[in-house]
Amino acid sequence: MKKHFLVLFLFCFTISNAQESKYAIIIHGGAGNGLVPGNYNEVQTAAFHHALNAALARGDSALAAGADALDVVSLVIQVLENDSLFNAGKGAVLTYEAKASLDASIMDGASLEAGAVAGVSCIKNPITAALSVLRHSPHVILSGAGADRYAQEKGSICVDPSYFIIPSKLKTIKRIRKEQEALDSAQNHKMGTVGCVVRDREGNIAAGTSTGGMMAKRYGRIGDSPIVGAGTYANNSSAGISCTGHGEYFIRNVIAFQVANRVDLIEESGQEAADYMIHDVLSSQKAFGGLIGIDRNGELFYSFNTTGMLRGFKREGEKAQTYIFSLEIEGDN
Ligand code: ASP
Repeated sequence: MKKHFLVLFLFCFTISNAQESKYAIIIHGGAGNGLVPGNYNEVQTAAFHHALNAALARGDSALAAGADALDVVSLVIQVLENDSLFNAGKGAVLTYEAKASLDASIMDGASLEAGAVAGVSCIKNPITAALSVLRHSPHVILSGAGADRYAQEKGSICVDPSYFIIPSKLKTIKRIRKEQEALDSAQNHKMGTVGCVVRDREGNIAAGTSTGGMMAKRYGRIGDSPIVGAGTYANNSSAGISCTGHGEYFIRNVIAFQVANRVDLIEESGQEAADYMIHDVLSSQKAFGGLIGIDRNGELFYSFNTTGMLRGFKREGEKAQTYIFSLEIEGDN
């Protein structure tokens, strides 16, 4: 008899806990050492805050209406891809040949299913292509023309490739080519990759990342953003993570997975694991970047070793917060 009461109690406790689970969203819009207050005037910083808030608001309303983490990651990233302030979708950095070549990935922390596209050139919202790969394909990563075709077949909008190209990025690529700057150097890094991690009311975590990659990339270079475990990772039992920065280092160090793995195996908090991977591992290799995440306890975290990282977060029922520079420069807003 006692045993039955205990089972009933545990059942009710689990149900009410599941119902009480609050949702949360965290986003980034890229990390970089050019993000210092002197480089941006008031209008430009206001535009960053506005764009980050618009993305958070989209996610918040979808989660409040009962959407799941995976769909919300895609919806939020689409808002950022449509905004030419960021290096994803419209306004992405251009290849050496002055074309947009876009990468994106998304992962479901409940099922460990993942989808990614690399080097797509006509899909308006590459994150929708990544989600189609996750939902409908037996594969994890599709690339190039095949990925463009697959995404269209599954309903993603295809635009003329000129849609992605904005004048400032075209000017930069022309200058780089003229001056024959070292094309593989981090100096050419233009921040603005976007990412999102969501925990929904069921407690499921999903993560996604979308980017144009590194400015003036050549030879079909692919960065960390579409690589599961490098730029994006999600597992309900540890954490969801989205990264931004010098992709080659994020791939070599499998940064996103390592953060999740540290949470899982050595029981660090997401924040401790992120700080270790960014400030110990990446910094010791003189590599730069940052990441955002939500751990299995629902704690939001972020870490970066650049002067700034565009970022924002919102917990259910609380005010959204957005930041551009490091907190020492910025102070709380
Ligand atoms: N990680 C991206 C890449 O290497 C670039 C970035 O995050 O800014 O393609």
